[in-house]
Amino acid sequence: MWTTHVRALRYSLPMASPNTTETTASTPPQVTASASSSAAQRAPGNPRSLSGLTPFLKPYRVQIGLALLFLVLAAGATLVFPIALRALIDGGLVPADRSDQAMRLGQHFLALFGVAVALAFFSAARFYTVTWLGERITADIRNAVYAHVIEQSPGFFESTQTGEVLSRLTADTTLVQTVVGSSLSMGLRNAVMGLGALGILVWTNPLVMGQVALGIFLIVLPAVSFGRRVRKLSRASQDRVADASAVASEVLNAVTAVQANNAIGRESARFANATNEAFKTAARRARARSLLVGFIILATSAALLWGLFEGTQAVIQGHMSAGQLGQTVVYVIILAGSAGVLGEVYGDLLRAAGATERLMELLHTPPSIQSGDKLPALILQGAAHESKNSPPENLPGVTIQMDQVNFHYPSRPQSPALVDFTLNIAPGETVALVGSSGAGKSTVFQVLQRLYDLPPTAEGGGSLWIDGLPIKDWELNALRLQMAVVPQDAVIFSTNALENIRYGRPDATDEEVYAAAREAFADDFIRALPQGYATFLGERGVRISGGQKQRISIARALLRQPRLLLLDEATSALDAESERMVQAALDAAMTDQKRHRTTLVIAHRLATIQKSDRIVVLEQGRIVEQGTHESLMAQNGTYAHFASMQLLDS
Ligand code: ADP
Repeated sequence: MWTTHVRALRYSLPMASPNTTETTASTPPQVTASASSSAAQRAPGNPRSLSGLTPFLKPYRVQIGLALLFLVLAAGATLVFPIALRALIDGGLVPADRSDQAMRLGQHFLALFGVAVALAFFSAARFYTVTWLGERITADIRNAVYAHVIEQSPGFFESTQTGEVLSRLTADTTLVQTVVGSSLSMGLRNAVMGLGALGILVWTNPLVMGQVALGIFLIVLPAVSFGRRVRKLSRASQDRVADASAVASEVLNAVTAVQANNAIGRESARFANATNEAFKTAARRARARSLLVGFIILATSAALLWGLFEGTQAVIQGHMSAGQLGQTVVYVIILAGSAGVLGEVYGDLLRAAGATERLMELLHTPPSIQSGDKLPALILQGAAHESKNSPPENLPGVTIQMDQVNFHYPSRPQSPALVDFTLNIAPGETVALVGSSGAGKSTVFQVLQRLYDLPPTAEGGGSLWIDGLPIKDWELNALRLQMAVVPQDAVIFSTNALENIRYGRPDATDEEVYAAAREAFADDFIRALPQGYATFLGERGVRISGGQKQRISIARALLRQPRLLLLDEATSALDAESERMVQAALDAAMTDQKRHRTTLVIAHRLATIQKSDRIVVLEQGRIVEQGTHESLMAQNGTYAHFASMQLLDS
């Protein structure tokens, strides 16, 4: 239910402010650190960026209404206070009759206490509702940004550092939280109080206070323009924090390599440099902001003191009562206080505007892979199936038709990864992809999973059909449901063995997980772990060996009962025993014909290759030879050369 809510938010987002649109339009999926810092230099001061938050505020209209109500009531109670004070001075202190005086004083104090009670209640209620809103909205933004980011294609992550994204998820949203959850309410409260106080002052002393009001207005104008500078600096400072996070996340992911290369000192220095840059920018921002605050406080106080001076003159000349002056003094204090707070809040708003801009930029980066909305006839005609997490049963393997496919990675427009690639694979066929490193084997896998899109057919991208349906027309989740991948580097999540395998199909029963593990030759070693299937495998699987990771990865793929199995036979990094086990698991996966699945295997060993129906030899993105082992040996070409090397090896 929650995810649908987040999705709804995502889809109801209006187009970003003109600035943001410009960024996303010119540099589609890339939100690089450098792109964001250049945006910081370019962007003119614009607290309007905060309007990006509107879609996140909308679901909480009621709470916002309540918060506003409490806010106005609390401000109102503060404003009533000086009036009660004036009544106390003029009506309670001055009367001639002593006993009457005592009684009236009591009444006046009771009235003052009543005001205090109201103030306390409304303030507490305001504080709670506003803080709740801040926390809730921040959580929603985090979820929306996260959901949006993990939807991005790998191309996005090639140009965006994960640390940068993390920093936006944490630091930027925290800034927004400060604003929504406290600054904004402080600002509104003080604006209401300040305006109220000013209104009453002008009403009670029209001439003098009219001049004071004009003076304050003239102060606010230059302050606003100065605020733009603060905003730019805030954004720049957030960008520097993101840079530091990027450095940290890279190093934390490779901490063993850092230590092995004696690079601890170098890396600490690199991080220190990054944080220092963040500090310098923050210090510049603090300087600008303190100037702004100082200026506002000094200028408003001067204007108000002048008004007060005029007031004392009026009392001396008998134009005003002592109570009136007392009331005026308190209003002036309220007004000066609000002006000071507003200056500071304005600074906060500008900071948050910078953060919001960055968040919205990320949120408005369109995912480069857009899902289609069709399913192939084969699946539509198939029996209705219950599980949304595995393909329908009793369907043949996937049919693949690649026709004249030309593809290059977005980050390398100059070097094609697949060239005039034509390959048809029949349901149930097992095809081995063979070729030297960089030949394009993994690229075939990536394209089949639609992690990258081919260029349009008109631009020479060729066509790719899966089960007779163009890959772009497929409903993306359904497409990926048909397949399972065993990648070269097994991925292990920081949970136990059981859940790591179940990741492939969340609704699988424990028994199904055990069966998949047995098929992948992983059952024995998992049971031998300290807590068997419940053993925590450590972050990124640091507590098990490479071969064990691979077998878990194979079990996860088998559990999905895919119609297309994509296997990357990466056994070179394993010791002989592990290799034998992984090999056995791979063999089992390849020969398991229960589901008549289609299998594509990136093969390095003759043993694997010989188990396939067809061998496709790749060289620099092209298919150079294909056929059976015997026919290719007879051709005495690339494959024969490769095979002889393999035979020598073994
Ligand atoms: P193989 O799997 O046969 O070793 P790949 O399919 O991984 O080869 O790579 C094919 C070509 O594409 C190589 O030149 C490689 O450098 C390039 N390549 C692979 N992945 C990317 C990527 N994410 N971005 C840019 N170029 C890539």
